[in-house]
Amino acid sequence: MTIAPVPDRVSALAPEPAPLVDAHGRTISYLRISVTDRCDLRCRYCMAEEMIFLPRSALLTLDEMAIIAERFIARGVTKIRLSGGEPLVRRDVGDLVQRLGSHVGTRLDELTMTTNGTRLADHAEAMVDAGIRRINVSLDSRDPDRFRFITRHGDVAKVIAGIMAARDAGLRVKINMVALAGLNEDEIGSMLAWCADEGLDLSLIETMPLGAIDEDRVDRFLPLTRVFDDLAGRFPLVRDGRRTGGPARYWRVEGTETRLGLISPLTANFCDGCNRVRLTTEGLLYLCLGHDDRVDLKTALRGGGIAGLDAAIDDGLAAKPARHDFRIGVGEAPAVARHMSVTGG
Ligand code: SAM
Ligand code: SF4
Repeated sequence: MTIAPVPDRVSALAPEPAPLVDAHGRTISYLRISVTDRCDLRCRYCMAEEMIFLPRSALLTLDEMAIIAERFIARGVTKIRLSGGEPLVRRDVGDLVQRLGSHVGTRLDELTMTTNGTRLADHAEAMVDAGIRRINVSLDSRDPDRFRFITRHGDVAKVIAGIMAARDAGLRVKINMVALAGLNEDEIGSMLAWCADEGLDLSLIETMPLGAIDEDRVDRFLPLTRVFDDLAGRFPLVRDGRRTGGPARYWRVEGTETRLGLISPLTANFCDGCNRVRLTTEGLLYLCLGHDDRVDLKTALRGGGIAGLDAAIDDGLAAKPARHDFRIGVGEAPAVARHMSVTGG
């Protein structure tokens, strides 16, 4: 399916709308889009086995998603990440990638994607052709049995084949690994060594209290401070001072191309420099991963066109919380009821 142009599309890129600055003086330059809440895996820390997904009638069309994204671009967003759920399970997602990719190098500095990699081998070439240069692929274990256990039925060979296809097509690949106590903590060092051998980057992520799952996250929470001390004793790590406006801190493995990122929203505060907002597949704009504040861009766009969309975005910016309030403790309810797959990781 090709996304048909709509009258609003021209005005979605109209020049000189107000830039995106929130009530705390932070400039928003980064939009994450959850293309679908559906997924072909069921990672234990992310969703329950019997996850209920949104009805298709509730979703933004891909054209509406593109119009909203283009309006954000016109208002100063320079980086867009497509995520999910699993973005590559949404039919015709390639059309969205192509359309947004057409802005890379002009209004957009970067279009990127976070994927579980199960379908990556089929999409890698097209992603490069569309202008994507870097992607994140989730891989919590390279051991087939352990990967199947964590994802509840995934085939790690497919994901690794996807990673290699992406790398060979010219994409810079960063592995996302959620650090899970008692599940994959003994594999973190060998994952970093593998990434260094294969020319990949690695980001380690602390499990976050988002949405109800079938198990208790407290048992699985692994503070990255502890992990880092162990890695620093085994690898020559050099601090890389780059900041992305998110919860990541970076190191380089000396003598290699590999960058190690630690994403620790629970043990490191990052909110002062937050530069991002998140659009869900049903058109809700969430202002913070850790709060329920949101505005309904689908209704605003359908009822009021680009002017309605702008007004709703402005309302959202005014309501962007100063900081998240994540805690993981015995008896703590999740910080927010929605899952990472709804907001896009
Ligand atoms: N399905 C794709 C994938 O797995 O890469 C994209 C969506 S997934 C929600 C995005 C990232 O969020 C993945 O790296 C995943 O491991 C991470 N994630 C999911 N739930 C999480 C949680 N509760 N805490 C921390 N990271 C989480
Ligand atoms: Fe699916 Fe990604 Fe969540 Fe795993 S982490 S269940 S792959 S959305």
